[in-house]
Amino acid sequence: MDRNICCVCHQLVDADARKLGGRIYCARHYAKVTQEHPGAWRAGLGMIAGQLGFVLLVEILAGLFHPTFSGWVLVAVGVGLALLPALLWMVFFYQQDRLEPEPKGYVFGVFMLGALLAQAVGIPLVDQVFEVQRWLPRSPLGGLLGAILVIGFVQEFLKYAAVRYSVFSLPEFDERVDGVIYGTAAGLGYATMLNINYVIADGGVHLQAGIIRIVVTALAQASFAGLTGYFLGRAKFEDEPVWWLPAGVMLAAGLNGVFTTLRGELTTTALDLAGGGFNPWPGLLLATVVAAATFGVLFSLIRRANKITLSGADAEGM
Ligand SMILES: [Zn+2]
Repeated sequence: MDRNICCVCHQLVDADARKLGGRIYCARHYAKVTQEHPGAWRAGLGMIAGQLGFVLLVEILAGLFHPTFSGWVLVAVGVGLALLPALLWMVFFYQQDRLEPEPKGYVFGVFMLGALLAQAVGIPLVDQVFEVQRWLPRSPLGGLLGAILVIGFVQEFLKYAAVRYSVFSLPEFDERVDGVIYGTAAGLGYATMLNINYVIADGGVHLQAGIIRIVVTALAQASFAGLTGYFLGRAKFEDEPVWWLPAGVMLAAGLNGVFTTLRGELTTTALDLAGGGFNPWPGLLLATVVAAATFGVLFSLIRRANKITLSGADAEGM
């Protein structure tokens, strides 16, 4: 190939072409790809801490005042709670992101796409086509496999698709960390729809158990999609083998299925121990650990990659 095309903006690059991971970059996008974007990480951390804070606030308020909502008010309160995790993340993200702005319309668009795919494809597929609730609880091994291959795979593939077939090819997807950002947005969109469905199906939520379930779903869905987003980021900026993206989706699906199964186990065991009364707290602990660990690992992987690039260790001669 004698014409050098930047892999981000697809423009012809002249003498100052740079090369990284087998790809060609213009000088501007070579500098952009390693941008640290600390706002994205603070938003992730803020989202986790903010959601835990909100759970405590709702628990305390509900414990003190024992509010009794009914009818459409109860449903409206539940839907409000369901929207909260995504809202918190966006507030944190947009505040942190002022200095190094990601096109805000795209982040919101991917969030909406995640929600739309959940409602139009994911939820009907899992609940009505595969009818998982009918056969999943029958045996432990079958349950785990079903949770990975049906629930996990459907959810993670759709969140992957929400990023892959929208912003992925655009020049605005230009930093290593962007995959994680857009993945998180798709995951929160998916989670919001799951939570709204949960609220409406139950005709509202029991505030104290409901807020925990909503936050657990949001943290988990955002983490797994963030992981797939990391694989997408690598695939955009470096040459990766053909199995790379499928492996990313399958890894996320595996974690999703193990998480779903573990959460079910933890909360049912707790139910037996407490002698009645569903105990959602172990699920919240599990989700917090998973989210903190996932975003922590992704953060350090991307930082390390950026450091190596900046030090020129992986620079290739032209
Ligand atoms: Zn470029």
